[in-house]
Amino acid sequence: MIKILEITLENEMDLVLAYKRSLNLTQQIGLTVATQTTFATAVSEISRSIIEHTDSGIMMIGLEKQGDRYFIKAELDFAAGIMLTADDEGYHYAQRLVPEFKLEEGSGTKKISMMMGIPRSIQLNKLKIDELIADAEHSASINAYEVLKRRNVKLSRISEQRQEEIIRSKLIDEKKNEFIAMASHELKTPLTVIKAYTQLVGMSKNDCSDRIKGLIEKIDFQTAKLSNLIQQMLDISRMENGRLAYEMKAVGLNSFIDDVALMMKHIMPDHELQVRLSTDVMVQIDPFRLEQVISNLLGNAAKYSNKQTVVLLESSLAEDYVIVKVSDQGIGMDEESRRSVFDKFYRAEDVLHSHAGLGMGLYIASKIVTDHGGKMWVESEKGKGSSFSFTIPTAT
Ligand code: ADP
Repeated sequence: MIKILEITLENEMDLVLAYKRSLNLTQQIGLTVATQTTFATAVSEISRSIIEHTDSGIMMIGLEKQGDRYFIKAELDFAAGIMLTADDEGYHYAQRLVPEFKLEEGSGTKKISMMMGIPRSIQLNKLKIDELIADAEHSASINAYEVLKRRNVKLSRISEQRQEEIIRSKLIDEKKNEFIAMASHELKTPLTVIKAYTQLVGMSKNDCSDRIKGLIEKIDFQTAKLSNLIQQMLDISRMENGRLAYEMKAVGLNSFIDDVALMMKHIMPDHELQVRLSTDVMVQIDPFRLEQVISNLLGNAAKYSNKQTVVLLESSLAEDYVIVKVSDQGIGMDEESRRSVFDKFYRAEDVLHSHAGLGMGLYIASKIVTDHGGKMWVESEKGKGSSFSFTIPTAT
């Protein structure tokens, strides 16, 4: 069948639509008034019987071509469980109105087809049929009920599309995660080997010239950077799979922070790292993970500020938690960046081409902090510098 229009039969209001739409179509085709009324009445009568049983019938109206002859056709789909009997007046009346009437049963559905021949004198061709289809789609609504119905159809189509988009983007996300997990594992193996060789060469450093010593240090520094990036990729894929594992320990916070600061001083030698700590407290943390948080904040502070400026690492005590804060005098950020810095893969527009990075560090750091029962936030002003703070509950 060449489908021209479709009406979902939900309630009695749809009978009016089925009748008027059939009437309009047969009129447009050029059938006689008697044929128009007969066909439209058959369509609305059969629809009446179905609506009495279900609100999920679907009426399709269109054309059928047999040989060189066209027929006007109505097809009504409904659930197989519905039994039409002698009590269904519309069903019996419709059968008497149209010359061709068929009831077929498929798997889970039933279908009633009704056909009436179109005189050969009426010329139907592709152009005319396309016109009928376009008219049915774009014609003005028959009544307020059809306005609402069309709006609903549009809305449910949009929501279906959204649903599909969500499913598609979830699949893409899963593939991306799989790729990140695989890539980071693949990168980790050769990197471990490079690290081992560098250490081996480093052990016989004394036999080397200053130039070679300098080169070994450079390899060491770059391998550490690469190793950090691979660690971040691994963490992201673990976080996506919901398994960032922690090994919690009771630790004295001040000595822990001092150790991280000492290590970071070598990594950011061009900045003046100042450490100001409050009274020492015990905290329950995963030292490896918390070191990752602090070194990420310090690394960013150095990366996004000029050489020779001060980076301040401080702590202060509150009621049952401690606040750790890293401040710099760097490029700072605008409101949009302040809102988005903790999002996965976010990088501010103004650093995209000037500073290397993948936008994973703060996303991971904030997740580690929340997993420790704390929270992380940023205060910053463009051109003036930034302060990143996080809290960690004190151990009781
Ligand atoms: P990356 O530094 O690898 O891009 P991060 O997740 O650590 O990833 O940081 C995300 C973004 O937040 C950075 O790209 C940068 O735009 C901004 N940002 C982070 N730290 C600072 C800082 N101290 N000063 C200014 N901008 C920062």
